Amino acid sequence: MAEQAVPGGRRYDRVVLKISGEGFCQAGERGISMAAVVHLAEQTRRAAEHGAQIAIVMGGGNILRGAQFTSGNAHIHEATAHYMGMLATVMNGLALQDGLESLGCDTRLMTAIRMEGVAEPYIRRRARRHLEKGRIILLAAGTGSPFVTTDTAAAQRALELDADVLLKATRVDGVYSDDPEKNPHAVLYGELTYEDVLRQNLRVMDPEAIAKCMQYAMPIMVFNFKKQGNIEKAVRGERVGTLVAPNRPEV
Ligand code: UDP
Repeated sequence: MAEQAVPGGRRYDRVVLKISGEGFCQAGERGISMAAVVHLAEQTRRAAEHGAQIAIVMGGGNILRGAQFTSGNAHIHEATAHYMGMLATVMNGLALQDGLESLGCDTRLMTAIRMEGVAEPYIRRRARRHLEKGRIILLAAGTGSPFVTTDTAAAQRALELDADVLLKATRVDGVYSDDPEKNPHAVLYGELTYEDVLRQNLRVMDPEAIAKCMQYAMPIMVFNFKKQGNIEKAVRGERVGTLVAPNRPEV
């Protein structure tokens, strides 16, 4: 993990940015809003200008989550519902790819489920090569396996691509002691350890994703992507939300 800012104000060389489906639609709505996508694309383009290599893992909750179909529905196998969710992430990926390319960014969309007519298959070594060439890579279809979420996919990709940090973009300012949208007294944390998150059952990412990051000491920065400039700041290594890491820094 790079600890110090390098000349030009960049601290991280390579990041995995997890953007949930809610980043692709307007607040409270579903589906894909190209205005929301362009907002993401503009922020990502500015972040890329600092030279960090960027891999984006898209969620699909704005279109479909497997869990929607799984409770008491005898007509669809749970695994099928999860595959549908993975396909939703591909639609977001296609939209973001065009959004980024319309702004002049060089991109590659890679999918964990093969669909060569639409995107490249995800191959770790090829993904790294794209990053080294300065392309923004968009990683769709999660892990390619059902029964997990794209948080787990993001943790997995951050580890295998040797990212310096996993940036988790959310619509709140970081990790709170309680749901800030329901409890006005919820406290925003600056730093947490993985153990804090798991022990207090804090809403950061899925427990599987936290456990994976904890096992390999992958830091996670949770921040609000709706605030203008935050993706850029997070990629540059500025503290814009809550850092989840092995140890809380000494104060
Ligand atoms: N999904 C899956 N395997 C994966 C990633 C995702 O089965 O590796 C399915 C799962 O049903 C999930 C859906 O795809 O609910 C959409 O992803 P997610 O819920 O993570 O999207 P987000 O909440 O980030 O918008």
